[in-house]
Amino acid sequence: MTKLRLAIVGAGPAGIYAADILLKAERKFDVSIDLFDHLPAPYGLVRYGVAPDHPRIKGIVNALRDVLDRGDIRLFGNVRFGEDITLDDLKHHYNAVIFATGAIRDTTLDIPGIDADASYGAADFVSWYDGHPDFPREWPLDAASVGVIGNGNVALDVARVLAKHADDLLETEVPPNVYEGLKASAVTDVHVFGRRGPAQVKFTPLELRELGELRDVDLVVHDEDFEYDEASKAAIASNKQVMVIDRVLQSWRGRDSANGAGGEASRRLHLHFYAKPVEVKKDADGRVSALVYERTRPDSEGGVVGTGELREVPLQGLYRAVGYFGSPLPGVPFDSTHGVIPNHEGQVLHEDSNERVPGVYATGWIKRGPVGLIGHTKSDAMETVRHLINDQGSWWQPADASEQSIVDLLAERGVQWTDLGGWHRLDEHEIALGAPEDRARVKVVDRDEMVRVSRGE
Ligand SMILES: Cc1cc2nc3c(=O)[nH]c(=O)nc-3n(C[C@H](O)[C@H](O)[C@H](O)COP(=O)(O)OP(=O)(O)OC[C@H]3O[C@@H](n4cnc5c(N)ncnc54)[C@H](O)[C@@H]3O)c2cc1C
Repeated sequence: MTKLRLAIVGAGPAGIYAADILLKAERKFDVSIDLFDHLPAPYGLVRYGVAPDHPRIKGIVNALRDVLDRGDIRLFGNVRFGEDITLDDLKHHYNAVIFATGAIRDTTLDIPGIDADASYGAADFVSWYDGHPDFPREWPLDAASVGVIGNGNVALDVARVLAKHADDLLETEVPPNVYEGLKASAVTDVHVFGRRGPAQVKFTPLELRELGELRDVDLVVHDEDFEYDEASKAAIASNKQVMVIDRVLQSWRGRDSANGAGGEASRRLHLHFYAKPVEVKKDADGRVSALVYERTRPDSEGGVVGTGELREVPLQGLYRAVGYFGSPLPGVPFDSTHGVIPNHEGQVLHEDSNERVPGVYATGWIKRGPVGLIGHTKSDAMETVRHLINDQGSWWQPADASEQSIVDLLAERGVQWTDLGGWHRLDEHEIALGAPEDRARVKVVDRDEMVRVSRGE
């Protein structure tokens, strides 16, 4: 029987779902899959994006672990595509590759002053608080008033983590350095800015409602943001999600603390709608001193237009949560406008000709762009795998497809790769670190230590 030797690059949900779907699919050939990730731990943004105080979502790793533990997928952690292995190597040893490398960088926001000191990308902050090994261990949290630009769930995550008292994160898997950093935070006010109105936000109701439950944090909303036009009223009446969001916000309007004066909490979270950021002001040292925004208003078609009125909110720190962006991979086509690998339903295309690149596939955020929930990466993977199966005639014909050959290659290059057994060791080690304090786990943040524990050294 023919055998498909498949490399999957990226052990986030998209890569793991692709492996699972292929192994379960009806097909006329055998399959053997090697899954590569440049981190010594699998699960991508489920481990390094989803906030530590969202244990239910983090729990998706249990389903992903079941796929890996079935025993028919080899995991090669701590192996970076583009450095430790190249596309030519994969062509030499496999019939095809699926790239599932996701996105970890921030999209840019092109407004004057965005380069100020203490102006940060949300993705970097998320990587810090989730203990990503390749990001600094220290995060400056010396600002009393901070702004968060964005009206999606990542903006809410960032605002919540900034506003929450560190002790309320202690029961989570938050790394010790992050707990200490947040504990020392000087923050008193977190301002969230979105250019649209409450009926057009991208947050989901559950994540929004959570903000109202934070201990010792008052929610501040502004009556002027709730003068809905007909399009907003129609959106609220016709869309259940928008209806719930409106209900949550209206319930906050009713609180004594809603105007920012009547509350007793030591921290406040201010929601500014119809606020389009136009400039970041800097102090004499080049540090963020204020955000200038233009007040917008509904355009009666579900969007907004500028009013020309400028307002300024003094801040000492600013986070932009305006989207993630994929990174190019050496030798692989890249669409630098959208931050994705150009593709048709997961079949990778040349950048300039729309011609297919045989043997090369994409799935997840690097295929579709950084939007959507973990569940969406499953439907993505189904589409990509369907094409991979049907494309049997155009797979690569590798010179040496033996399973040992890639092991030999990595060893020859001195790559300190980690395998599934190694991940189990690290996983158990983290769980054991958390046990004395009744915590689910304490994450190991240092890459060398992750590798050392995984390799049993
Ligand atoms: C801050 C944040 C919070 C989120 N919260 C939620 C939530 O609560 N609920 C929800 O459903 N979804 C949430 N999401 C969305 C969810 O994380 C994504 O839908 C999902 O992780 C995308 O999966 P992916 O496999 O495409 O990418 P990723 O999860 O990014 O996985 C990509 C993998 O590829 C690896 N990789 C990258 N480059 C290379 C390379 N050169 N060589 C080898 N390996 C490489 C990475 O290390 C990573 O493991 C959140 C996202 C973010 C950013």
